[in-house]
Amino acid sequence: MRDDFDAKWNELAQEVMSGMKEWRLQHPKATLREIEAALDERLGKMRARMLEDAAVASAAADLSQRPAAERLKCPQCGADLAGRGHPTRELTTHFNQAVHLKRSYAVCPQCGEGFFPPG
Ligand SMILES: [Zn+2]
Repeated sequence: MRDDFDAKWNELAQEVMSGMKEWRLQHPKATLREIEAALDERLGKMRARMLEDAAVASAAADLSQRPAAERLKCPQCGADLAGRGHPTRELTTHFNQAVHLKRSYAVCPQCGEGFFPPG
């Protein structure tokens, strides 16, 4: 995990809390359901950012960091897979938040099969 997560995630949490406080002051007559929706929206954003950071921090996500013995084999033909850079994959998570994952992309030199390795 990167060291700057503490500061970054603290900042995210602060944004949620101050944003929620502000929203509440501006909506003194909000119903419980409205408060819940406002809170979910803010937590959803924080959740997506944390998910993004935590996923990218995974050492397993980087093929080039793996020792030779742990190199992945092609599920089709069993050949050693070659890393092909780190394209960004966009996923949608809860509360319709976009998460951008920079993952290793592997391509089989033998059969040309390409995929995002797990981890
Ligand atoms: Zn193959």
